[in-house]
Amino acid sequence: MKTKLGLLYGGKSAEHKVSLQTALAVIKALDLEKFEIHPIYINIEGQWIKGPQLTGPIETVKELEFSAGTSLSPVSLAPTLFQASKEEAPLEVIFPLLHGPNGEDGTVQGLLELMNLPYVGNGVLASAAGMDKVIMKNIFAQAGLAQVKYVSFIKSEWEKAKEEACFKVESELGYPCFVKPANLGSSVGISKCRNRAELEEAVVEAFQFDRKIIIEEGVIAREIEVGLLGNDEPECSIAGEIVPKKDFYDYKAKYEDGDTALIIPADITEEEYQQIKEMAIRAFKALDCSGLVRADFFLTKDGRVLINEVNTMPGFTPFSMFPLLWKHSGVEYPQLIERLVQLAKERHAEKQ
Ligand code: ADP
Ligand code: MG
Ligand code: MG
Repeated sequence: MKTKLGLLYGGKSAEHKVSLQTALAVIKALDLEKFEIHPIYINIEGQWIKGPQLTGPIETVKELEFSAGTSLSPVSLAPTLFQASKEEAPLEVIFPLLHGPNGEDGTVQGLLELMNLPYVGNGVLASAAGMDKVIMKNIFAQAGLAQVKYVSFIKSEWEKAKEEACFKVESELGYPCFVKPANLGSSVGISKCRNRAELEEAVVEAFQFDRKIIIEEGVIAREIEVGLLGNDEPECSIAGEIVPKKDFYDYKAKYEDGDTALIIPADITEEEYQQIKEMAIRAFKALDCSGLVRADFFLTKDGRVLINEVNTMPGFTPFSMFPLLWKHSGVEYPQLIERLVQLAKERHAEKQ
């Protein structure tokens, strides 16, 4: 029996195009003997459009952008969206290939929970907590994980007492510091600040994306990442390193220049790897993650390992870090997808 798999991709998000590339790659990798593929496209306006079941190969992203559809809200569309066909039973597993707010933040996961459908990846809580850098770091702190110093502000707080706020940043963190919107990814809205003027400017910029920001002490460090795969007892991949050519790993370096080097395996010591692995698993459990996570670390010049963040739906094209880490750990892209679908089914079965 083939698994009826719903692929949810696109999205009203800065990462719309990346998501389309991912969907194309996943479709190409899926074995049509094992899976019946049902595409569900979220266009850039946020409309959910169900494409026909895919029976043959898809060659270009264009073919995935179904245009016929309605502009009903996902909730009212949900029962029909998640049916294999008008007469048939619902899809068996949904794979949300979405990044950032409205995809990776627990909202789509909540919809799928309400529909009682198994889905790939993290649940509502882990997705939401992983998207909010302040909440995530508070949970890491509670789990005893080493990380950079940070402070956070909501917009009204900052505006009411700017001078005190700047003073707090300068006395607790110093320069350079990093200002980030609390709820985003892909380096959007993030700036590195070297002085008061840059700090004030960066805060205005970050508040354009969120009503809450996080400000962190800047560290000089190598950036090491591992992939985790599993539910209750996740496995850890080998480690990789990202080497940005620019000052830091910003949006342009991530998606436009493509000149950031990924080094796999990372040239780190066995002790460093063991420490990263232990911390990654601790972070996974602290956030109650499931399915997959990419855990990102700073390895500072003085040899400290600090957790930076976890990404609950990491970049997932065959050239992204997470799939490459697993490829180098012996799990090829098609097997990785099958494993994730299997994990989704297992987690769902446990809940019933
Ligand atoms: P995102 O979720 O958007 O990837 P990150 O917190 O990972 O946001 O920040 C993006 C990049 O900015 C990192 O990969 C790193 O290059 C740089 N960076 C972020 N925070 C710091 C910090 N505290 N010190 C030094 N570099 C940082
Ligand atoms: Mg992130
Ligand atoms: Mg990051």
